Amino acid sequence: MNQHIDAEQIKQWLSLKDPVEIQKLYDTAYTIKVSEVGKKVYFRGLIEASNICKKNCYYCGIRSGNPHFTRFEMEMDEIVQAGIWAHENHYGSVVIQAGERTDQAFIDKITKSVQIIREKTDGKLGITLSLGEQSEEIYRTWFEAGAHRYLLRIEASDPTLYYKLHPADHSYIERLNCLSVLRKVGYQVGTGVMIGLPGQTIDNLVHDVLFFKEHDIDMIGMGPYQVHEQTPLAAEAHHIVPEENLTLSLKMIAVCRIVLPSVNIAATTALQAIRPDGRELGILAGANIIMPNLTDIKYRKFYQLYKDKPCMDENADHCRFCLENRIRSIGEEIGYGEWGDSKHFYARQEGATTDK
Ligand code: SAH
Ligand code: SF4
Repeated sequence: MNQHIDAEQIKQWLSLKDPVEIQKLYDTAYTIKVSEVGKKVYFRGLIEASNICKKNCYYCGIRSGNPHFTRFEMEMDEIVQAGIWAHENHYGSVVIQAGERTDQAFIDKITKSVQIIREKTDGKLGITLSLGEQSEEIYRTWFEAGAHRYLLRIEASDPTLYYKLHPADHSYIERLNCLSVLRKVGYQVGTGVMIGLPGQTIDNLVHDVLFFKEHDIDMIGMGPYQVHEQTPLAAEAHHIVPEENLTLSLKMIAVCRIVLPSVNIAATTALQAIRPDGRELGILAGANIIMPNLTDIKYRKFYQLYKDKPCMDENADHCRFCLENRIRSIGEEIGYGEWGDSKHFYARQEGATTDK
């Protein structure tokens, strides 16, 4: 059926104003989620390994140009311990995320952490990386070490908007190239955008959805843009109403589920920053992945990509139990001990791109 969904239809969905119509959109997407990827949510334990970043994105709190907080870097043992905790608590996977760095010491630390986590968990814990733009050689080294998924958001698929959000040393073409290299190396590839950015139009969001489809993406991680006061973009963001960004983000999740039924879609933490049950709403609008935070609370306060980041003083155990209850309360099961890989990825491997 998705053969016939075109830009005009997507625009209509994203422009819905009537709450009853919006709810119908969520319900349609949720029905597709249940039939395509099950009544299950998969956990990816999030390890925020370092807030040191060489990039200076205009929206991000940990950009290199922000001098207002302490920079940290987890020791390799801490990364490994977080991975082992995830495995012992039956999480199928972890995501190792950090600011972008290409220095050898950091590259080696990630390689070794991935290798040791794989060894110590008998290859049972899935490992996703979200470490920005790297060379093909580095992507390959990490893949061979045992990582098998990679998240690199395009942030805004429209080049004009992309360049408004990033300084001149960023290259949209390079970002695209990284996405295709990741796929060539063999990763399950995830991308995504921020929603409700200053200067972003509904047409931009339509373009984003079509971008995911055109690039045959396996996983989508999108969330509402949240203002961080210590960033240049904050000056243009006074008009932003977080609840409106939440609704727009839920609509985007729903539309992506309808257009790309078999991909994995995350209900990201930024949804929860706006409403405590934001991630559950994301699941009910079609998402099937949640990323509970495993970062030690001594580091969390320094990994503030945006303001009002939730759960700053809750440890991993607390996050797990809180989430478990939240997921069960909406009648979904948690895929403990399962990787919960993107079905789209396997269909792509077999040459049958189900969502096209
Ligand atoms: N450095 C890596 C990974 C860490 S940043 C990278 O950039 O890919 C992870 C994500 O945080 C980014 O992709 C961006 O979309 C999101 N992010 C950064 N600042 C944000 C903000 N102010 N509001 C919402 N999301 C933000
Ligand atoms: Fe660095 Fe990623 Fe933030 Fe950009 S979004 S400043 S690359 S951490």
